[in-house]
Amino acid sequence: MAHNRYDAIIVGGGIAGLTAAAYISRTGRKTLLVEKNNDLGGLVGSFESDGFVFDAGVRAILDAGVILPMLKDLGIELEFVRSRVSLGIEDKIVNIEDLSSVDEYRNLLATFYPDSAEDIDQFIETMLKVMKLLDVLYGIENPLFKDIPKDKEYLFKTLLPWLPRFLATFGKINRLNKPCEEYLGGIIKDQSLIDIISQHFFKKTPTFFALSYFTLYLSYIYPKGAIGKLPGGLVEKIHEFQGEILTNTRVKEISADEQFVVDDNNNKYFYNDLVWAADLNTFYNITKLGSMAPKIKSNFANTKEIIQKGKPGESVFSLFLGVDLPPAYFKDISHGHFFYTPSRKGLGDINKGEVKEMLENWKTLDKQEIFAWLDRLLQYSSFEISIPGLRDSNLAPEGKSGLIVSILMEYELFDKLKENGWDEEFRQQLETKIIAILSETIYPGLKDKVEKQFSITPLSVEKRTGSAGGAIVGWSFESTIPVVNKTQKVGKSVLTPIPNIYQAGQWAYNPAGVPTCIITGKLAADRVNKKSQ
Ligand SMILES: Cc1cc2nc3c(=O)[nH]c(=O)nc-3n(C[C@H](O)[C@H](O)[C@H](O)COP(=O)(O)OP(=O)(O)OC[C@H]3O[C@@H](n4cnc5c(N)ncnc54)[C@H](O)[C@@H]3O)c2cc1C
Repeated sequence: MAHNRYDAIIVGGGIAGLTAAAYISRTGRKTLLVEKNNDLGGLVGSFESDGFVFDAGVRAILDAGVILPMLKDLGIELEFVRSRVSLGIEDKIVNIEDLSSVDEYRNLLATFYPDSAEDIDQFIETMLKVMKLLDVLYGIENPLFKDIPKDKEYLFKTLLPWLPRFLATFGKINRLNKPCEEYLGGIIKDQSLIDIISQHFFKKTPTFFALSYFTLYLSYIYPKGAIGKLPGGLVEKIHEFQGEILTNTRVKEISADEQFVVDDNNNKYFYNDLVWAADLNTFYNITKLGSMAPKIKSNFANTKEIIQKGKPGESVFSLFLGVDLPPAYFKDISHGHFFYTPSRKGLGDINKGEVKEMLENWKTLDKQEIFAWLDRLLQYSSFEISIPGLRDSNLAPEGKSGLIVSILMEYELFDKLKENGWDEEFRQQLETKIIAILSETIYPGLKDKVEKQFSITPLSVEKRTGSAGGAIVGWSFESTIPVVNKTQKVGKSVLTPIPNIYQAGQWAYNPAGVPTCIITGKLAADRVNKKSQ
């Protein structure tokens, strides 16, 4: 049995854990990052298959005043290109270039829903307001990544003038906190139009978050060499700072009173501080408190109960295609990040009430009914299509293109399909039907040019990341969120009931995404680094 003591151990080598490990190891603390997979990066990563480079998780990166300042602060040099976005309905596509594209988007909606012109204007007006608020929120380099005592220019010319505007946005943001579908229902009468706007988002996404997407579309960036370059840069830094990284090592137990973690081979690793940067349900299930103080035990039990009541967010089905069509074929249609809806009708209740009903009456359903539902789902769904080769031509073999097509999917559905032994057939049907729909609509001839295809289901996401429900951004907006969900309280989001254990990543703060995972990773590191060595 190996016995090792570290100043800090970080469990989970996703973007949050890597950030925490980089910042802790930079101070010279003896640091160990433990990751259960062979690859680091978690939901931020890329892989290569026969010359096609695909992104496994997030398709583009939002700086949000966080990523570039963090890279600069750590001395990581990465080259980025702008990751342009297109929005399409049926045969009409808007390429988003700058703020003037808002008008084009408005016109796109008005073309399909001519009777709703006034409602569309009101929606666009709110969207523009949200965009202004976001400009304030993301308007400066995040102070977390600046050396404020030394950087007087940043302090006086940027941070202090920005603070009053920042504080003034809170009230406005809180007023836009209700679920986006509900908010849109108050200003738009046509249900199809509401669906077309909202079905890209997770169910009950807060209005502010959903309506801020146009700003995100304008600001997405993409690392040259694919998304995996971002975690890759952090890994290099951790090595440079003498931090240790153990891959293929799953933590199966935490002894909080004796301050060690145990891996699957029963190796023990001792820590002074621990950062848990993975699924929180797992954390509460595997942590043993031993002889810790009764107050800690009762806080732990209460928080565990709250966490267990939380609902994991939706997951995703992703289809990876290697096709014998040149980048020019796709470039003529859209930019490399494309949100496409083949039908103006919208999903209606297909992915909400109908799924719920199917899951409730599962035992009475036969396979054909479920497959018929799938047909309708795909016909009216929105697809997120990512084409890495349109951002960086080195990411596909000469004259060919790689595509990643994804739709949001319920984990529970796949779980039930698996119980019945129908999951594999369902997955194949999904692949075939998505290719058929895209061939009939936006990419004529695609199906005859597919050279390779494979897919990832919510079950595979869960298996890979260890995340409950295969969730890709932590907690669902559909039930009470069991962690901090207010910007002004983000500092507390990394605390657990155990004084020397911190949490970070998509389960620690809501709404989650790459920038907030990096923020919580840094905040957890700051807590550890404040302590004397
Ligand atoms: C298709 C897709 C699209 C997305 N789009 C966006 C987007 O546009 N914008 C955005 O901001 N975000 C997006 N996201 C979400 C974003 O990628 C995630 O929120 C973020 O990467 C989560 O990072 P994390 O470090 O918290 O968790 P993870 O990436 O899940 O990392 C956790 C790590 O912990 C490891 N682990 C788990 N349990 C253990 C254990 N017991 N022992 C050791 N290791 C363990 C896992 O293997 C994993 O590597 C998207 C995600 C996906 C999949």
